[in-house]
Amino acid sequence: RGTLYLVSTPIGNLGDLSPRAVETLKHVQVIAAEDTRQTRKLLTHFSIEGPRLISYHEHNKHRMESEILEMLKQGDDVAIVTDAGTPGISDPGEDLVRVARKNGYPVTSIPGPCAAISALVISGLPTGRFTFIGFLPREKKARREELNALRKRPETLIFYEAPHRLKETAKDLSEILGGRKVSVTRELTKRFEEVAFGDLNALVDWLEEETPRGEYVLVVEGFQGELETDEQESSWWECLTLSEHV
Ligand code: SAM
Repeated sequence: RGTLYLVSTPIGNLGDLSPRAVETLKHVQVIAAEDTRQTRKLLTHFSIEGPRLISYHEHNKHRMESEILEMLKQGDDVAIVTDAGTPGISDPGEDLVRVARKNGYPVTSIPGPCAAISALVISGLPTGRFTFIGFLPREKKARREELNALRKRPETLIFYEAPHRLKETAKDLSEILGGRKVSVTRELTKRFEEVAFGDLNALVDWLEEETPRGEYVLVVEGFQGELETDEQESSWWECLTLSEHV
């Protein structure tokens, strides 16, 4: 029986691929990659040559499930990797884990980078309880409905967003969640990582002047009660830090 490994890969900085991830990627028989071209670059960089590289992504995942199960049955170890970060977190992997477990194959993880967790821990917002939302629906009505359903949740909320949808999402967040605190992180672990902090109203104003580029995570304060939210009327945008990673 083969084992299914969920291997986290860097979200920008190649130095974040763990030694255990390298060992695992060298020793499995098969690597199932979201984008084989992207993964080939990573494998080349780390001189990983042995395993067979196959494609496993949102659009072929159901067809590939039975093929991967067959490989596990034959005794092959299979590693899942995505373009960046932890497989299964706003990325393919979840369904494969379910079928592998259902069929009695061991599933394990090689932990590593995850943009949501890095953004949360540097946000300055409470980390004890949080909800990972990932990407909100693209369609405005559905997005606003989801935000309305989250309005009274007291825990910290974590959102992923693509740069070209950031302005729209920020407007919906501020209209529905009010002037809560927000931490915006961009290009985590990359050369020009940025962290900005303020309230949601100020985020909308700030974005008026910006052309969002790169990858963003928004970490938003949970519901603190109507009064506190209403009190935060004035906009503030406290800091924008830049750090240069090697
Ligand atoms: N599986 C990944 C993980 O563990 O973080 C997430 C994949 S999801 C398709 C891509 C989204 O993650 C981006 O749109 C962005 O919101 C976030 N993300 C990934 N890398 C990032 C980075 N270096 N800085 C900020 N956000 C990032």
